[in-house]
Amino acid sequence: MRQKPKPSVALPTAEASRLWNLYGFESSSDLVLEDLAMALGVVVLDDDLKSADAWLVRKGDNGIIRVSNTIAEAGRRRFAVAHELGHWSLHKSVTQMMSCTSADMLARYKASPPEMEANTFAAELLMPRHLFQPAMRQSRPTSQFVNELANQFGTTRTSTAYRIADVTEDYFALVMSKDGVIKWWQASEALKDLMWIEAGEAVPRYSVAAQFFNGEELPKKPEKIDLDDWISENKGLEAEYFYEDVIPMPSYGQVLSLLWLE
Ligand SMILES: [Zn+2]
Repeated sequence: MRQKPKPSVALPTAEASRLWNLYGFESSSDLVLEDLAMALGVVVLDDDLKSADAWLVRKGDNGIIRVSNTIAEAGRRRFAVAHELGHWSLHKSVTQMMSCTSADMLARYKASPPEMEANTFAAELLMPRHLFQPAMRQSRPTSQFVNELANQFGTTRTSTAYRIADVTEDYFALVMSKDGVIKWWQASEALKDLMWIEAGEAVPRYSVAAQFFNGEELPKKPEKIDLDDWISENKGLEAEYFYEDVIPMPSYGQVLSLLWLE
């Protein structure tokens, strides 16, 4: 029987690290994506793309990345370019033409292996573990902290929170909800086998996310929420509550909940 192909984490991570070393980048301000792309033989253009966030067209050793000119946030544009550079570096033998949607770039939980690999590459390129991890150890994963890291690394708040889940050794999860319904979630290594949250269900009634959808004034600091309110299955967590802080995204009808244990 054929096995479903599994995305690699090691390869895209190693490739992004190789580029940091090769070009001697020391901080995020050294990483100018257009310059890096040019050095790799790729031109980046902003264009009218309709349904995709970005394209990559490959012709031998040269490529063109087209990024949708409707992307408003600088961090999202940077992630899109980094994602296409991931395809450029990793998927030469897969296809000569990639067309990638915003779902391909956000949803690491359900995307196809090449998309997940391009996202792993983009996360490591934009938020290298050796810089990200020390910054992260200093603080609780609050919305303010995610904002600070997003500014420091020039990334979106969603990809920054996702990166915290990637690299933290603590109990941390993020949950994206839209129009009152849980869309997806991601937990840190320490937490992921100990609980389950059911995507597709309504956000818990007593969560801070629910306060956002009800149009209530949001708390100024993290709130304690009963663990059982947030998770649909407890696989051995002994804590009684999560701390929840949220990042409201009203223009998308979305809210990102940051959940952690102390
Ligand atoms: Zn892609």
